[in-house]
Amino acid sequence: AKNQGRNRYAFYTSDLTASAHQRLEMENDMRRGLERNEFVLHYQPKLDLSSGKLDGAEALVRWNHPQRGMVEPDQFIPLAEETGLIVDLGRTILNIACAQLAQWRDQGLTAPRMAINVSGAQLIGDHLVNDIRRALAKHSLSASQLELEITEDFVMNQNREAIVLLDLFSSMGIHLSIDDFGTGYSSLAYLKELPLDTLKIDRSFVAGLPGNHHDAAISQTIIVLAHNLGMAVIAEGVENELQRELLLEQGCDSIQGYLVSRPLPADEFANAFLRRAPS
Ligand code: C2E
Ligand code: CA
Ligand code: CA
Ligand code: CA
Repeated sequence: AKNQGRNRYAFYTSDLTASAHQRLEMENDMRRGLERNEFVLHYQPKLDLSSGKLDGAEALVRWNHPQRGMVEPDQFIPLAEETGLIVDLGRTILNIACAQLAQWRDQGLTAPRMAINVSGAQLIGDHLVNDIRRALAKHSLSASQLELEITEDFVMNQNREAIVLLDLFSSMGIHLSIDDFGTGYSSLAYLKELPLDTLKIDRSFVAGLPGNHHDAAISQTIIVLAHNLGMAVIAEGVENELQRELLLEQGCDSIQGYLVSRPLPADEFANAFLRRAPS
């Protein structure tokens, strides 16, 4: 990160080491990218463990950059969060995801529930609720077709305004999940305050399964915790059959990961996972 060439952008470095100049340049690049519709979504299936059926899809953003090719979200989401561009980017992501659901429906396919990642900055103020209402109305979708994945750290702030917002989403029928569960600096107190539907076991715990006894204890504990609180639980980052088997034994509801599929472009996702809706 120390010797960036003149034409290297911040997203080849950590956002912390990038110079102010690089950051500004990348911010402008992102704005231009938003205007030119360079952001695309890939979709990763979530499978119900006991039936093996499709249980949802997670939308994961990529930047199809004219010079740099497909740029991964870790390379631009942090800067988008810092600069506030995440609000515009988040709106774009929501609109693409909703348009995709409508397209699948119009093609006669059974569209899965669509999970969207939401950064804390998007939960300040009422942009998100307005954006969601507008997108659902535009595409004639029901709120229950949407799921929001939020991270613990944000929810933990126990910010009154955020709790009200999450209650509103929940009352609309939107599903709410805690992403990367177990990795934040969290107390468990918020779990009883919030209208959550699903806990998502972080892939750092799944990676050690089935052999690592500590990871196995953690996944088992999260599964029991979720169920005792009336929530569902999904494991992310499931890469092999032994992990799947252990999670099934432990009572996990759903899985997501390379074992099932990498995140795919919309058409590949539809070919591999969507069926014609019964008419
Ligand atoms: P995340 O929400 O925890 O997403 C899961 C990440 O794990 C994705 O990386 C996915 O491609 C990857 N993954 C899925 N299955 C496996 C597996 O079996 N093994 C391994 N090693 N990895 C797997 P991706 O797409 O690069 O996204 C990284 C992070 O970027 C996401 O983590 C999320 O925090 C953020 N992100 C992605 N899309 C969005 C978005 O639309 N909005 C916001 N705010 N953040 C996003
Ligand atoms: Ca990645
Ligand atoms: Ca996620
Ligand atoms: Ca994760």
